[in-house]
Amino acid sequence: MITGNALVLRNPVLWVAAQTYGWGRYRKLSSQDSLPHRDMAALQSDKLARLLRHAASSVPYYRDLLAERGVQMNGQAPRELLSQLPLLTKQDVVTNFPDRILAHGKRAAASKHITSTGTTSDRIDIVLDLACQNSRHGLELWCYDVGGSCRLGARRLEIPPDACSRECGVNAHRPVGFMDEVRWAAAQSGRPVREWASVAARRARYKLRQALLNDETLPPFGPDGTRIAPDALQSYVDAISEKQPYLLTGLPTYLHEIARHIQRTGQSVHVPVIRPIGSVSTPRLKRLIGEAFGGDVFETYGSNELGPIAVECSEHRRLHVAMGSYVVEVLRNGEPAAEGELGHIVVTCLDNYSMPLIRYKLGDVGRWHSGPCECGRESQLIECNGRLQDLIVCADGSAVTEEEIMEAFYFDHGLDHFQLVERKRGAFDLMVLPAPGQELDLETLREAAGDLLGNPKRLDVFPVDTIYPEATGKFRFVKSASYEDFA
Ligand SMILES: [Zn+2]
Repeated sequence: MITGNALVLRNPVLWVAAQTYGWGRYRKLSSQDSLPHRDMAALQSDKLARLLRHAASSVPYYRDLLAERGVQMNGQAPRELLSQLPLLTKQDVVTNFPDRILAHGKRAAASKHITSTGTTSDRIDIVLDLACQNSRHGLELWCYDVGGSCRLGARRLEIPPDACSRECGVNAHRPVGFMDEVRWAAAQSGRPVREWASVAARRARYKLRQALLNDETLPPFGPDGTRIAPDALQSYVDAISEKQPYLLTGLPTYLHEIARHIQRTGQSVHVPVIRPIGSVSTPRLKRLIGEAFGGDVFETYGSNELGPIAVECSEHRRLHVAMGSYVVEVLRNGEPAAEGELGHIVVTCLDNYSMPLIRYKLGDVGRWHSGPCECGRESQLIECNGRLQDLIVCADGSAVTEEEIMEAFYFDHGLDHFQLVERKRGAFDLMVLPAPGQELDLETLREAAGDLLGNPKRLDVFPVDTIYPEATGKFRFVKSASYEDFA
């Protein structure tokens, strides 16, 4: 399936060229960091104009949309043209993939197929050409640099989400070790020889990249939820102390559990840079994690289908958008949101010519913030406040984000963890997991939740033994039945 990788891997010259190009892209992004805002906007506008011309001439989906709407490509500013295109949803991508959304002539071998994160029913296929893959490598390096001055070769340690064990059991039975894993994957397939070569190539490339970048991974927490035994948490602390990473990456929930274990046991751990990934991080969560690890916490924003979009700098004033690679919009009722106003995050990737994603609705909500930042960068500043599907719309029409709900419950009331589920509009179950040795005051919790959610019709509070992750391995704090009311 990953034909491009296999092709590149068979040709070491191409592989080296690919990595070099990623480095060149990183250098370019870094140099653009010092540009005045108007120059960044002009560069972005030029790239957008090129992408729109390409989409209009080479991608049937966009060609037909522009024709149906009678949009003239000439004589209009790129941002005006962009605003005349409808938002692109995951369903639009699924419906039009591959024939109508891939560009003509862009199905050559030197493309990489990836799948977005999410449950099986929610995933979409994305095709990236070589230039876009390398742009992503460059963006990753730029994020490491801006968010914590993490240089190439600095030791990085990651605790990835437990993505597959709940969904399909893959990780639960997969053996450890290069050749054992290859044999196992081959045995799972009906075409052993082909699978052996493909799996071995992918694993070799992954191992080589890990070795080059000094990356290591620790196993995820597993599918049993948030109630992790102290021994298991201690094993993570021991591994972190032994490996002494410069950068530690993991789900906010994982980092939080380990951080609380460190604080409860009075241990001293030092990790200079910590990066929560995969779900929303709140200011209090980042502060707690930073204190426990004795380091600085840097948030990034991005997605599997689009790549790294924005990163927090050392001033910690929201996230800087990579304006040379993306046009980000925040929309409310279809119009640009005012500064500080909550809206839908919509992103156009300027680097993917194989499969242009224009005005792609990521399914997140966020806000713009005014710049410039004290770090000197004049790029746009954004914050993501959580998934749209985790946003509650109250009876009076006001919206409460996942981030606001986490700030209200996650750190007080003697809770270890919680999950708020809106069973139907205005009817909530709040499941709470007490911290060890804590007695919960359920009535106080109910009142606090009621105040936050505009005193809904029904709100029941239940103590539980654990909160389970989703099929993606991530934890959801809120499940909403009312999010579609947020326009
Ligand atoms: Zn900054």
